[in-house]
Amino acid sequence: MELDTIAAISTPPGEGAIAIIRISGDDSVAIAERMYRGNQNLRDVDSHTIHYGHLVQPATNETVEEVMVTVLRAPKTFTRDDIIEINVHGGVVSADRVLQLVLTEGARLAEPGEFTKRAFLNGRIDLSQAEGVMDMIRAKTDRAMNVAMKQVEGRLARQIKTLRSELLEAIAHVEVNIDYPEYDAESVTLKRLEKQITAVQTEIDQLLATAHQGKILREGLATAIIGRPNVGKSSLMNALVQDNRAIVTEIPGTTRDVLEEYVNVKGVPLRLIDTAGIRETEDVVEKIGVERSRQALSDAELIVLVLNANETLTEEDKALFATIEDFNAIVVLNKTDLKKEIDESEARDLVGDRPLVTTSLLKEEGIEDLEAAISHLFFDEGVEGTEINYVSNTRHIALLNQAKATINEALDAAQADMPVDMVQIDVKRAWEHLGEIVGETAPDQLIDQLFSQFCLGK
Ligand code: GDP
Ligand code: ZN
Repeated sequence: MELDTIAAISTPPGEGAIAIIRISGDDSVAIAERMYRGNQNLRDVDSHTIHYGHLVQPATNETVEEVMVTVLRAPKTFTRDDIIEINVHGGVVSADRVLQLVLTEGARLAEPGEFTKRAFLNGRIDLSQAEGVMDMIRAKTDRAMNVAMKQVEGRLARQIKTLRSELLEAIAHVEVNIDYPEYDAESVTLKRLEKQITAVQTEIDQLLATAHQGKILREGLATAIIGRPNVGKSSLMNALVQDNRAIVTEIPGTTRDVLEEYVNVKGVPLRLIDTAGIRETEDVVEKIGVERSRQALSDAELIVLVLNANETLTEEDKALFATIEDFNAIVVLNKTDLKKEIDESEARDLVGDRPLVTTSLLKEEGIEDLEAAISHLFFDEGVEGTEINYVSNTRHIALLNQAKATINEALDAAQADMPVDMVQIDVKRAWEHLGEIVGETAPDQLIDQLFSQFCLGK
């Protein structure tokens, strides 16, 4: 494949000790060579070595930057092209200046995700691995990072490819039967086909069973802490944030008002809803009232309802219980260090089957229990240490569901004694759906759209 030479700044924008400009393509070594002044000619150095020197304007020989240049020759590179990585002093100006020079010397500015796309086009990675790269960049917890890494390693891809070859084998067998009808009775062929595709379907089901948890790991669990004024919501939030590595992310395309706070609770990333509001104006919930909070909570996947053990239950508490009826919820009975005023059996009735955790946030007691309850609500065995291959990507989940549905149609057709070549068409479609996950049967448009979601320089 004939591809041009692309370049971009591969480190995040802003201040840092160093910035890296990456060049990928056939001309990358020649381009670097023209600008580089050092002890050796870059064309002569070994692959995967780094060299100190200066970059100059080739026309004037005027020094632009002091640099370290890494030479990585195809094919053992991220893109499978020749790659040059130029380390420059951190700061926007020097990185930009070097990038401009590289572009003047003949490289084209890379589009977002184009390096990864090139790795895909050059056959080094498949689509699910490329998506794993994107997830790794965005991972919010170590656990999410591990899920993404497994995907990058190609574990999901391998499993999908095995399933595809099993489907293909089933189809091939039918073809033999169509060409040589005397070779096998049609009903025997159908029985065998049914057995083969049922096995594939079982495996698809197992993968899909991880989807919910995979999505939680990937995207974080939208969590709302609610309760009457003064019960300890802010204290709880602070305890969670303090206890767990919190990462604050800004959602692209929004102003700084929309902050999301992530806390990592035993490997489960919680995305705390409305935290900016809780932080800055003290309790959205109490301001907007129960009725409106019902609306605000519609996005929540987990609700933590806080009660004050030092007070009797009020109508407002009961209204809050009514609000959370259809939600995953954990109830926290706080302020257990104070005199117990709450009617505990009445409270337990309201709590029902939901986990109930007692805390004294003032004395920092019970926080561990709450964290364990959260983790176990979504992951039977807890998250950390499990070795499951999670499917976490919405696109993969949709395609697995489609594959499953078409296999179902094939099975229905087989059971209705439809002609075997009709059944075969459905199996073929399932094979195609699975192929889209790894990019083997994905249309160009989809591929472009996927890579455009990457950040620049990746
Ligand atoms: P919010 O209005 O629900 O956010 O409640 P806050 O977290 O702001 O807490 C209200 C008050 O209760 C503060 O003065 C806290 O220090 C206090 N508080 C929170 N948790 C406890 C607890 O477990 N025991 C006691 N005694 N006081 C607490
Ligand atoms: Zn508060």
